[in-house]
Parts: sequence; structure tokens; C-alpha cells
Amino acid sequence: MSGPDPARIPDEFGQIAELFRPLTGGEPGALDLLDDAAVLPVQAGSDIVVTQDAIVEGVHFPEGESAEDAAARFFRVNLSDLAAKGAEPFAWLQSIAWSKAWPLERRRSFARALAVEAREFGLVLLGGDTVSTPGPFMASGTFFGRCPPGGIIRRSGARPGDVLFVSGPVGDGWLGLKAVMGEIEDPSGALRQGFRRPQPRLDLRETLRDCASAAADVSDGLIADAGHLATASGCGVCLDLEQMPLSGPAQAWLGAQPDRLTALTGLASGGDDYQIVLAAPAGKRQRLEAAGCTRIGEFVEGPSEIRLAGVAYAPGPGGWRHE
Ligand code: ADP
Ligand code: MG
Repeated sequence: MSGPDPARIPDEFGQIAELFRPLTGGEPGALDLLDDAAVLPVQAGSDIVVTQDAIVEGVHFPEGESAEDAAARFFRVNLSDLAAKGAEPFAWLQSIAWSKAWPLERRRSFARALAVEAREFGLVLLGGDTVSTPGPFMASGTFFGRCPPGGIIRRSGARPGDVLFVSGPVGDGWLGLKAVMGEIEDPSGALRQGFRRPQPRLDLRETLRDCASAAADVSDGLIADAGHLATASGCGVCLDLEQMPLSGPAQAWLGAQPDRLTALTGLASGGDDYQIVLAAPAGKRQRLEAAGCTRIGEFVEGPSEIRLAGVAYAPGPGGWRHE
């Protein structure tokens, strides 16, 4: 008689025990993932900041990406939201829908990669749900962070006269996806690496708390996310595309494009950058620049505007046109 087939997928409880229990890091509130619910380890004197993001294979990352890259993406897109709010992450809950195309070894790789992420960013797993799906793989997470009472940085605090900053290069997420899809060259691999391992800007927490009147992470694209700040704050924003910081690969790509305005608009619209776009009073400029942030515009009383080296453009049919 042969022994048990090592590739046979254990039932739901076997999977939870093997794949996910190690991720609790011994946190007592996780109740060893054996109970109906968990206890959130709250600390007196802090607010709990909560965010939720799902990733679907073939929608939020291309089919066939590695389980490790899927795990990193799942973790980091959620942490980016907490980073933008000035919160320090500490725990998460997750619902995982396994597709038939994910055999046990791939599930193990996903769980091991989650363990690496959890250690790197200091989070414990509190619980979740495990289902199978006839559709694509999906992971949905609820991520918890802490901040001082009332200290969350909202989208709605920008005021006319505030300066618009971005925390780092714009457009690399968009170019990174093109590189992963094989649509553009990426000789150094930096664009693909950036797409697969976005760096949530948790390092900016103190700076944001000290300086920002409003903030959001750049997930939808710089133009859209700066616009979210303006809309939530009840004012307009003027964004100068020529002032956007670009990485070396993005500059090289831009230099090869026939139409600079269209290309810059693409970089500013593509999304998945996971930098932080923020509003701050002009007096905070030095502090923000010392932290690597770049001034790219300002908040105004009137309607929002996109500029190229000071000249205003407006969205028209088929793209942005000179006003
Ligand atoms: P219930 O049926 O009572 O909702 P489940 O059987 O779904 O509970 O889950 C049992 C335990 O395993 C719970 O503690 C739950 O939080 C945990 N759990 C289930 N799936 C996951 C997962 N994907 N990641 C982490 N914990 C999980
Ligand atoms: Mg139950």
C-alpha cells in the first residue's frame, strides 16, 4: 500500500492549519485559527485604522504571475492604503478563493510568501475564510493599523493655497505592467520588479503626520488620485505634468515617445504607483523635500487643471488638449 499522496490538497481545516496558522505569529488574539472569531489586539490610546482591498488573478495582476508575487502584491496594495493614512500596520484578516489552477504547492508558495511579507512589515494574521472557486484566484484582505487618536490623515483636509506633493516617481506602475506583459523593453528589470514588489511608503508616516493636510496613495493614477484629494476637500488642484519626478527607466521611455504631452499624461494616469500624493501648507516644503517629496502643483479655489510647464490643458475627446 502506498502512503498518502503529498500533492493531495488537505481539506479546508488542514489547509488552514498548515498554511495559515504559522502566520499568526503566536498572537493570542488569533485563537490559533481554531475559533469562530478572533480578538483584535487593541492598545489604549490609539485609533484603529482599517482598510480592505481584493486582488483577482487576471484583473489586478496578470494570469501566470508567481504565487510569491501575488502574495506580495496582495499585502502591499493594502499596506499602501494604511501608509497614506499615517497608520502603522499590525494585523490582517483574509479571504482566499483558490482556483482549480492552484495546486497545493502553489498554495504553499503563496502562504510562505505571506509569511515573508508579514515578518518584513510586522503584521500578524488574525483569521479569515478559505473557499474554492470555479473562477480565478482571489485574495481579499482587511488590514489594521494604529495611529494616535484623531491622527488619521484624510483625503478631505486640503485647502486652497496648499501645495501638492508626490512622494516619489510617477508612472512606474503603469510602465511596469507593460513590461510584465512584454509590451515595452525593460533591460534592467527594474520596471517589472517595481510592479511586482511595490514599496508601501510606511517610512513617511511621521513626515505625513507632521506635514500633510490631506493624503492618498497613488493607485488609480496621479491625476485621478490628486483629483480625489481636491474633490474630497471641496477645492480644485492644478497639477503640472512637467514637474512630476520620473525614474530613469521612465525618462528613457518618455524620451522615445513621439508626443510628450500624451506620454506624460499616460504616466500620470496609469496608476499602481503606490507612492503618496499629498497636500501641505507651503511652509512644509523644505521638510517634505528633505523626505524625498516633490512639489507638482497647488490647490486652488477654482476648478482643477492639468498643466504642462505652466500651460493649461483640459481633457477632451481622445485625450488632453490645449485649452
Ligand atoms: P466559521 O465556519 O466558523 O466561519 P471557518 O471554518 O471558516 O470558521 O474558519 C475556521 C477558523 O480558521 C477561523 O478562526 C478562521 O478565522 C480561520 N481561517 C479560515 N480561513 C482562513 C484563512 N484563509 N486565513 C486565515 N485564517 C483562516
Ligand atoms: Mg464558526
